[in-house]
Amino acid sequence: MTSAGREPLPVRAPAPRLSETLPPTPPRLPTFTLEISPPDLSPWVAGNTGVPGLHQFDSGRPGPHVAVSALMHGNEYAGAIVLAELLRAGVTPRRGKLSLVFLNLAAFARFDFERPIASRFVDEDMNRLWRRGTLDQPVASSERDRVRSLIGFFDTIDMLLDLHSMLWPSDPLVLSGPSEAGCALAREIGTPPLIVSDSGHAGGPRLIDYERFVTPSTGARACLLEAGQHWAAATLALTRKVVSRFLGACDVIGSAEATGTRPRVAEVTECVTARTTSLTFLRNFRGGEIIPLQGTVIALDGPEEIRTPYDDCMLIMPNHRAARGHTAVRLARVVA
Ligand SMILES: [Zn+2]
Repeated sequence: MTSAGREPLPVRAPAPRLSETLPPTPPRLPTFTLEISPPDLSPWVAGNTGVPGLHQFDSGRPGPHVAVSALMHGNEYAGAIVLAELLRAGVTPRRGKLSLVFLNLAAFARFDFERPIASRFVDEDMNRLWRRGTLDQPVASSERDRVRSLIGFFDTIDMLLDLHSMLWPSDPLVLSGPSEAGCALAREIGTPPLIVSDSGHAGGPRLIDYERFVTPSTGARACLLEAGQHWAAATLALTRKVVSRFLGACDVIGSAEATGTRPRVAEVTECVTARTTSLTFLRNFRGGEIIPLQGTVIALDGPEEIRTPYDDCMLIMPNHRAARGHTAVRLARVVA
């Protein structure tokens, strides 16, 4: 019997006595090999617009304003390497405008080989701040200051690709956000072969969730690439390929040829936020893994079990060290 014939189960249920479940052993952090070195961004920090890290090129012809952003998280520098390569090559769009932006330069400047995870941000996660109401709050934060300086720029963007990578092992994917337009853009890019449509995190809106990109009347579209493990050579290679295909799909540089395969689309149905400081997965689940059976216990969160609500449930980016209030995993159904 397939999950289509059964009611989804609640994701949370009281855990039986611990002795009846597998003893939770927190997964260790993966062993990191830094296969790619952080780029020298010194030639590009100033930008060419008056806003640090923001580079803009105008074809002088009508067309969309297309943007590629990198370094939302300071230790995810594969995307920054690709932007620096484009800048060195002297990119020029054949129509409209092209902008390349290094987002969290302050966090990137703190990158340290000995503590490669510590430079994700300075004060708070920059990718939870993309709402004007959030920015109006008088909170001292390096990331809020930076987002305030850039949000007006994003109000002019028609097509955006935001470049990220992942800490934990996972298949690469494109997050299309909640909008059909984002999903359509991801299909046009065509790779990697998994598109995940979701409505974001409890902690606050991502850039792809920013009002401009989720309001149909603006026509603006945005996707977020999660290209693979932060410092893997394969992540850099895939980022190059996806940026090239994005620029082709937007018809500003090169062209996006058909990939010959249709990406799978998975819809996030649940965003599991850790309620305790001890959420622990029962094993080292990999992102993109599909759990065949409804009701499979995947994690313990204090007194509660986290269970798959339906058959063939895809685990999106399990975070094996989720802090309380942070996303531990998203659960998705493959819909196409
Ligand atoms: Zn990221």
